Amino acid sequence: MLKSEAKYRIEELKALLWENSRRYYVDNAPVISDFEYDRLMHELEGLENEWPEFRTADSPTQKVGSDLDAPMGENAEALAGNDFVKRAHRYPMLSLGNTYSISEIEDFAARADKLLTEEFSYCCELKFDGTAICLTYKDGKLVQALTRGDGVQGDDVTENARHIANIPRTLHGDYPEEFEIRGEILMPYAAFDALNKAREDNEEAPFANPRNAASGSLKLISPAEVGRRGLMCTLYHIPAQSVTFSTHDEALTKAASWGLPVADSRRLCRNINEIKAFIDYWDKERKFLPYATDGCVIKINELSAQRSLGYTAKSPRWAVAYKFKAEQACTGLLSIDFQVGRTGAVTPVANLSPVQLSGTIVKRATLNNEDWMKELDVRVGDFVYVEKGGEIIPKITGVDLSRRPADALKPVFPGSCPDCGAPLVKAEAEARWFCPNRDGCPTQIKGRMLHFCSRKAMDILAGESSIEQFYEAGLARCVADLYDINKFQLTSLEGWQDKSAQRFIDSLAESASVPFERVLFAIGIRYVGETTAKALARHFGDIDALAAATEEQLLEVEDVGEIIARSVFDFFRTPAHISEISRLRKKGLQFAVNGDAAALSDVLSGKTIVISGNFSISRDAMKELVAAHGGKAGSSISARTSFLLAGSKPGPEKLKKCEQLDIPVLTEDDFLAMLPDVQNPPTQPHPAQGSLFEEPTLF
Ligand code: NAD
Repeated sequence: MLKSEAKYRIEELKALLWENSRRYYVDNAPVISDFEYDRLMHELEGLENEWPEFRTADSPTQKVGSDLDAPMGENAEALAGNDFVKRAHRYPMLSLGNTYSISEIEDFAARADKLLTEEFSYCCELKFDGTAICLTYKDGKLVQALTRGDGVQGDDVTENARHIANIPRTLHGDYPEEFEIRGEILMPYAAFDALNKAREDNEEAPFANPRNAASGSLKLISPAEVGRRGLMCTLYHIPAQSVTFSTHDEALTKAASWGLPVADSRRLCRNINEIKAFIDYWDKERKFLPYATDGCVIKINELSAQRSLGYTAKSPRWAVAYKFKAEQACTGLLSIDFQVGRTGAVTPVANLSPVQLSGTIVKRATLNNEDWMKELDVRVGDFVYVEKGGEIIPKITGVDLSRRPADALKPVFPGSCPDCGAPLVKAEAEARWFCPNRDGCPTQIKGRMLHFCSRKAMDILAGESSIEQFYEAGLARCVADLYDINKFQLTSLEGWQDKSAQRFIDSLAESASVPFERVLFAIGIRYVGETTAKALARHFGDIDALAAATEEQLLEVEDVGEIIARSVFDFFRTPAHISEISRLRKKGLQFAVNGDAAALSDVLSGKTIVISGNFSISRDAMKELVAAHGGKAGSSISARTSFLLAGSKPGPEKLKKCEQLDIPVLTEDDFLAMLPDVQNPPTQPHPAQGSLFEEPTLF
């Protein structure tokens, strides 16, 4: 591979891994399998080892995937307005090196043999497939529960953890005065099935798998609701600094004696053969467990040996995870649909004879792209292997050629978009065909509107069915059209009442105060996720400077590589985009960092403010106001809360807690009176002198 090719591929892999990491940890809605994600990560590691000059500190190979950030996607509603207080971990919470290959486990054992001079053993455990938790006990009482977060700080979910049935609030026996213990929050299959059934009955999107359900449920606003979700906890690690034992196994045995839920599936092994026997046993037996596991973890048992092996930036050198391969099923391929997505990518989707796989019936599976179809040499009528990883849609991974019927039909990848008929295109470096008709293809237009309205973007009250209605009725054919919809038009649509129409119109008006960085994320520039949008907004300050930037100038921004720079540059060279932004600007949306998110004052500095109830502006806008004046928005009332900012209908539990802890409750007016004159972020756009966007060019 040439140096320039390696650089390009590294950038591409970083962008892909960041995007999928966000979908997995933050949205709890992965779209690729863990196997595929790990394959991409290994490819990136390999390239970075070969070309170390292209390895950067922010590479996904150097950082633990972060779940910090309020989730969106399938769990957005239940979590709306929720922001947990972030707290630093006393000891970093790291990931684990992982492999799907037994020979790499042999290498791990051989390396330990070589490096360790003392006697040592291995503690082999199940790898529980949930979400990590760190509990702190002080004087035998549960005082804190933090999620892994980004490994350095986590979300404080103490109240929620107290409502998980098998997490003891008090311990017994000879527990240390203060210690930390870590483990996993799991959702057993039975609870998962019941939850998804209830969600489907309520027409809510089901969770993809128990891991996502556990992770989403742990971050719900209501601790009582967390209690009803049937979560469980299993603990597997006490940081060595926290206690004075000589082995990991001894620490866990002791923890169990204090009443903590420690799994008893672990075994001490002396050599690689015993490790392999443990793995073989659980690869079969795990199917009978009531909760999900995705592998085994092999740890050096002696804490002194752990200390001498130490850590990499991302994981301990004294442990490794062996991951089980996903379960497979074989079934008939009935037909293939070609589906176009929000970005225009066309994906072949197989319709299958229904088959049972990992607890669910599978009827559809992705065939990824044309190259994959060719590699498999798949035919309609074939018997195909289907696998389910972390993703919602399972994947076709192979064909049983021995069972191919004589009349099996070779599929033809369409030359034109199945939705709008435009001839498909394929860029050189892309594996997928795209519909280039970005501004005329209905699926792409609707997908972009939905993204624009989403909570993390403009937070406009319109879901999939409303967007479909607007589109079908000809009310909105691009995001700028949404701002022209009036109440009369809305109430003439099926299912819209005066009240719901007003709520939608209000949310449109409120979106004028959404800060520039979120507007930038909302307009849907390819590869520009939330983090990149933030970095671009900070770097360039306003849309004019961003639109005028050369690719070289874009590359100066943190996290922006060649692919993103090209995508941003191209976006602003497309007349339709310029004209749409121009229309949005006229509607008063924020297209400059005009001192809004940046500090307006520091009158709230050092204060933690809990916001509850409804205000004259949205709750998110209120949080931004708090931040702009140097304050911090907290989620639950504690002794550290400075005051409760209560709008109309504040949470009764919060009010009660304030009374108990003697915490002041302020109204919106009291609060605004505390702020200097600049309190409200401007909602009028900056004068656009010399702007590309003054005159719409297409509309
Ligand atoms: P990981 O899940 O592979 O392993 C580390 C985690 O294992 C720990 O944080 C801990 O929570 C857990 N664990 C379970 N049992 C354990 C035990 N007995 N001892 C110690 N730890 C135990 O690593 P990760 O950093 O949480 O996630 C990375 C993995 O997540 C990737 O390898 C990938 O498989 C998956 N992922 C998938 C996607 C996707 O799009 N499908 C995206 C991001 C990450």
